[in-house]
Amino acid sequence: MRRKMIGLCEATKLYGGAGITTFPRPRYVPDGFCEWCGKPLPKRRSSCCSNECTWYFNRATNSAYGAGGGGGYRNHIMRRDNYTCQRCGTFHAWVNENGIPCPTSDGELDVHHIIPVSEGGDDNPENLITLCRDCHKEIHRRNDERDIV
Ligand SMILES: [Zn+2]
Ligand SMILES: [Zn+2]
Repeated sequence: MRRKMIGLCEATKLYGGAGITTFPRPRYVPDGFCEWCGKPLPKRRSSCCSNECTWYFNRATNSAYGAGGGGGYRNHIMRRDNYTCQRCGTFHAWVNENGIPCPTSDGELDVHHIIPVSEGGDDNPENLITLCRDCHKEIHRRNDERDIV
């Protein structure tokens, strides 16, 4: 049964920030270029070139997994794993209309408990791993379809 994962605040209280919030946000454009539109950054800007780009970037990267249900925590695990399936290596960051990958999932990633919850596994970041949907299904098939996330 799919169980709600704990929230980000609770996770950092229980397990500390290491493995959750201490990893830098991945940046998919070279330094000096806007993370939303890809144009060169004006002086004194480090992420996006304009307030407009910042607005779009924040909307895309904060809202997708941020809304309740432990989504914030889930997104941090995906961020730690660079939005890449840790089994097959497929990169699944969401790509914006400018063709630029952004630090949020494209919706094809799951966070998997290495030791299943049904066997005492917890939400410690060390027990969580980012998998693509196909690999996630495959792992559960191999684990004889136990009803776990
Ligand atoms: Zn821009
Ligand atoms: Zn995979």
